[in-house]
Amino acid sequence: MKKNAFVTKEAIQEIVKTYPTPFHLYDERGIRENARKVKEAFSWNPGFREYFAIKATPNPFLVNILRQYGCGADCSSLTELMLCSAIGMKGEEIMFSSNDTPAEEYALAASLGGIINLDDITHIDFVEKILGKLPETMSCRYNPGGVFTLSNGIMDNPGDAKYGMTREQIFKAFTLLKEKGVKRFGLHAFLASNTVTNEYYPQLAKQLFELAVELQEKTGAKIAFINLSGGVGIPYRPDQEPNDILAIGEGVHRVYEEVLTAAGMGDVAIYTEMGRFMMGPYGALVTKAIHEKHTYKEYIGVDACAVNLMRPAMYGAYHHITVLGKEDAPCDHLYDVTGSLCENNDKFAIDRKLPKIEMGDYLFIHDTGAHGYSMGYNYNGKLRSAELLLKEDGSVELIRRAETPKDYFATFDGFDFYRELKL
Ligand SMILES: *Cc1c(COP(=O)(O)O)cnc(C)c1O
Repeated sequence: MKKNAFVTKEAIQEIVKTYPTPFHLYDERGIRENARKVKEAFSWNPGFREYFAIKATPNPFLVNILRQYGCGADCSSLTELMLCSAIGMKGEEIMFSSNDTPAEEYALAASLGGIINLDDITHIDFVEKILGKLPETMSCRYNPGGVFTLSNGIMDNPGDAKYGMTREQIFKAFTLLKEKGVKRFGLHAFLASNTVTNEYYPQLAKQLFELAVELQEKTGAKIAFINLSGGVGIPYRPDQEPNDILAIGEGVHRVYEEVLTAAGMGDVAIYTEMGRFMMGPYGALVTKAIHEKHTYKEYIGVDACAVNLMRPAMYGAYHHITVLGKEDAPCDHLYDVTGSLCENNDKFAIDRKLPKIEMGDYLFIHDTGAHGYSMGYNYNGKLRSAELLLKEDGSVELIRRAETPKDYFATFDGFDFYRELKL
């Protein structure tokens, strides 16, 4: 399928008069349409809630849009919890799915009333010591080990992942938590990342539902919710078929009836913690071509670099590129599109066929709405870009300003960098 940019060259030419490139731009209309569909896909389950994975896009303006569709937030760090608290989230709107968790983070999650999802059996004592008494509702993360396969092959390798408890530990954990006064239980697992198939959630759900029936029978723990976590993917490549969330919801519904309803557990709520699926396609990194270089290869240098979008450098991830204004031009040039870091892996694309690029052209790097800005860093002293929201009426709102050198130097306490600088 052809991947289209959600903004035109003309619109970008207007935007850059106020906000220079590079920036991440988010598409409010796309975010809303998708959130509405997710809600509809699981509307058969009265307790359903999507807990947006904050780490994907930790921007309060965007999280507040999702909240209008009933979304809560999935946090796994102190500042993610603080962000949610600052925008008024509390209680069971917050899921705390962390691992290797520091004590102060558990304390904050509990004081906000969030649901604590334990990554390991040893954390039961750890949390009890911090809180004095365990909350009445608690969740545990399951890891079945081995490899996770779907009809099109091996999807991921849970046996190699640091997360979750073994089957044996989950039974012990539920028994122990029950003894310690926990009354409502949740079960969680994340077995594969960026799955572009409608099969993933239903398969995962089947495993978790069967385990839940057995857990409730054997331990007497009352299972209140099952959390399918994240991992629902997006088509980064034009040849990939997008997930159909309505089909996914229906697939989960079918196994819910088969396994849970049949076992008399038709009151269990379904939770999800999607990040990428909620936001990924509705963000883009917009950057300008500023150099061309002809050596052993053809290079286009842009004004963004890997600190603005780490996925290609880190995982070799594909991000589609549209040269704005040249949407229909033939892709008859072969380029490496690079940033300015002193790292040879700072390339947004390698051997990519694109239309002929002129200096000053705007490149729209697709699908940066999740795990894009948020993975940013400051290597080479590079600064994080702005985040802009393209609203439904076509106007643009600055939802996070770009960093300035002052932000970069702000942590040298006791040394007034700017006074010494004498520029
Ligand atoms: C990262 C993460 C998610 C979100 O994953 P996506 O692939 O963005 O959907 C959800 N839950 C947990 C615990 C995570 O670590």
